Amino acid sequence: MSESPSANPVLVVGGGIGGLTTALALSRKGIPVRVLEQAAEFKEIGAGIQLGPNVFRMFELLGLTEAIFHWAAFPDALEMRDAMTGETVVEMRIDTLYDRYRAPYGVIHRADLLNQIHNACDASNLIELLPSRKVVSIEDNGYNVTVHTETGETFKGAALVGCDGLWSTVRAHIINDGKPIVSGHIAYRAVLPTAEWPKEYRLPRMVVWAGNKTHLVHYPLRRGELFNLVVVFHSDRYQEGWDSYGDPTELHERFAEKCEPVRTLLKKVDSWRMWVLCDRPPIKHWSKERITLLGDAAHPMLQYLAQGACMAIEDAVCLADQIEAIGGDYRTAFKRYEELRYLRTARVQIMARVYGEVYHANNVVRELRNKVLREWAAQGGIDMSWLYGDQPELPHVNKVRHPQTALL
Ligand SMILES: Cc1cc2nc3c(=O)[nH]c(=O)nc-3n(C[C@H](O)[C@H](O)[C@H](O)COP(=O)(O)OP(=O)(O)OC[C@H]3O[C@@H](n4cnc5c(N)ncnc54)[C@H](O)[C@@H]3O)c2cc1C
Repeated sequence: MSESPSANPVLVVGGGIGGLTTALALSRKGIPVRVLEQAAEFKEIGAGIQLGPNVFRMFELLGLTEAIFHWAAFPDALEMRDAMTGETVVEMRIDTLYDRYRAPYGVIHRADLLNQIHNACDASNLIELLPSRKVVSIEDNGYNVTVHTETGETFKGAALVGCDGLWSTVRAHIINDGKPIVSGHIAYRAVLPTAEWPKEYRLPRMVVWAGNKTHLVHYPLRRGELFNLVVVFHSDRYQEGWDSYGDPTELHERFAEKCEPVRTLLKKVDSWRMWVLCDRPPIKHWSKERITLLGDAAHPMLQYLAQGACMAIEDAVCLADQIEAIGGDYRTAFKRYEELRYLRTARVQIMARVYGEVYHANNVVRELRNKVLREWAAQGGIDMSWLYGDQPELPHVNKVRHPQTALL
């Protein structure tokens, strides 16, 4: 199966984290790939992203560990504070997850993550990266797949993987189940140089200030050179949309009743980017003949478990393995891949909604949350093996080396 990308490649629509990882994983199996990305550059905006131990094992399989380690930060703990009173509800060590899952928990700037995957793709002569190609229509004629771009170009491939995110054109073509569900939750994100972040909050950990229908998270990025802030609140003002500038006045109104440190921290940022958070209910089938979906196109989820990108990367490894195992019979490989992945990704989609409720609880539910979390912490923490542990559909990784970095 080793040909140049121009000879009957797999077409990947979308060059975000899912699309580029898919290209890399397929190329590692000797499969030629052509990636069509609508934007003029392969580029991530946005801010930090959390990486669970499950995805570090995938980086190891893809040969990305050292590149990611260079750019990531490895917080020591996750601290939950009550945004109304400021008290610490619970503190959970996350550096000890390494011992249990043979891989660390890290955080990274999205741009740094995408750049590292992009560099690895660039180094492969099996991958052709084509920016400024917005796919507008798709045909599967039984032997191969043809796509047409907005500018009138046509590309043919042996099969197609739709990695075109939440508002997927490929999904509309093969499933046609309408628009994603607008959750009513809005995220504002910003990144600051560490020098601009108050000294007393330059903590080497992830801190979540959880409040009524709101939360604020901050953590260091890029080996401690930057600080990442994510603020989430409920709002019915926004119907849909993605990645525009947020209105700080609305933000300060939503947090007016929160404790003083939270209000002070929010004032550190002048310019926020805004995301309207959406998901979909899980589905069992997301492949049709020679076309399949991956990442947010297949199973978009709310961000409360910090796993959307991690799931896309796991998908890519699983998909490449199935294609290799079945010797290039794409229809069968795509069916096997969705069968192996739908329950895992469905669980994360559903649990992400539950975690959203936990973060944003109020009144009795908030008190109950605080009590239960403290009990769990006293018993040694919550067992997250279902999420961070080994998965039967993914290759076993003996261990990822310890990052051994001290933060801040
Ligand atoms: C506030 C927030 C915080 C998050 N935090 C985390 C976290 O901590 N950890 C984590 O793992 N995940 C997190 N996520 C989720 C994560 O960002 C997504 O799950 C992930 O980016 C999905 O990757 P993707 O490649 O499937 O889709 P996308 O990143 O959306 O990429 C899709 C790509 O396809 C391109 N495209 C779209 N349509 C077309 C077309 N017609 N033709 C050609 N190209 C097209 C787009 O330009 C884009 O480059 C978070 C999400 C949000 C909103």
